[in-house]
Amino acid sequence: MKRRDFIKATGLGGLAVSSAALAAPVVAPVVQPHKTYKWKMVTSWPKNFPGLGAGAEFLAKIINDLSDGQLQIKVYGAGEIVPAMEVFDAVSQGKVEMGHSASYYWRNKGAVNQFFTTIPFGLTAQEMNAWLYYGGGMDLWREAYEHHGLIPTAAGNTGVQMAGWFNREINDIQDLSGLKMRIPGFGANALTAAKGTVVTLAGGELFSALQSGAIDATEWVGPYNDLAFGLYKIAKYYYYPAWHEPGSTMECMINKKAYESLPKQLQNIVTYASRVANQDMLAEFTAKNGQALHTLVNEHRVDLRPLPFAVLKQMRQYVDEAIRNEAAKDPFTQKVYDSIEQFRQQVSAWHDVSERAYMNMRALINDSKKFDYCTPVVEEARPPTV
Ligand code: CA
Repeated sequence: MKRRDFIKATGLGGLAVSSAALAAPVVAPVVQPHKTYKWKMVTSWPKNFPGLGAGAEFLAKIINDLSDGQLQIKVYGAGEIVPAMEVFDAVSQGKVEMGHSASYYWRNKGAVNQFFTTIPFGLTAQEMNAWLYYGGGMDLWREAYEHHGLIPTAAGNTGVQMAGWFNREINDIQDLSGLKMRIPGFGANALTAAKGTVVTLAGGELFSALQSGAIDATEWVGPYNDLAFGLYKIAKYYYYPAWHEPGSTMECMINKKAYESLPKQLQNIVTYASRVANQDMLAEFTAKNGQALHTLVNEHRVDLRPLPFAVLKQMRQYVDEAIRNEAAKDPFTQKVYDSIEQFRQQVSAWHDVSERAYMNMRALINDSKKFDYCTPVVEEARPPTV
């Protein structure tokens, strides 16, 4: 319809209609001056630490870029405003607006928090994201943090980690007895059950603790991060796989009042920027762990070893006992655990015929001779019971 016909049809050509009304649709909307928000993000990582600290910086950058500078976030390394293990309290209490960390550090605030990073022998990164976004996990996480005045987002994933650096050979479960090791989450419960001693240390303290003999072993992340800390210089053996951390989710936590003070558009930017950062960190770790593993094995001659199957099987039993004990104390913890377990069983059936079947096939057909330093974890013949 031509404009003249439209005016005729609607009677808008009459004198009763002002020229201002006619002009209204083509006037540009009034742009309100943007309020600029300047936030602080504290982290549990050394400033700009590869992967983890860089992931926090990346998240801040995406939020800044997407909001065209309306939400500016300055990132602080561990110890700059608060120590690594006080990030939760700082954000919860509103000292700062945002934090980047891992929820299993906050087990003293509730055992359930650990589930949102990882469960030993549990979900991989891909499965964890599937549970969080499509299996009800994010809703449960928000519920867990609600009474702390926090809103969580998944904001990074390391992928499968490494079992860690040891100055003692691990040939059977007795070798864990008396072992002083830094290990977080429910993996720590399993080490305690194996009569080891759990030591809690932030990443930046690991090298000196292992060097001085204050600890006998430590896990950290994987080749990329472990190479950056130089742990190969002071440990004899590098064990895999990370039975205790098969796909650890890093978190962004936002003070609830600060979040609610944002316009809806900026809230959405925080949400979707976290989703980008979550995927990006996994991609970076996947790419750089491969390079770093090559460097560790071929340049630094690291002694890479699989943990014995019998040790892993015993640790699985210890983990199950620890989680069952915690879940029995609190219905919400039980609810979250049930959700993850149900999801794991369902996704495992799919991954048996997809990811696992493909990886096994690919290793046999393509790669078995290229990675001859990597011995698979195998179920060994067990001695007869008497
Ligand atoms: Ca770790």
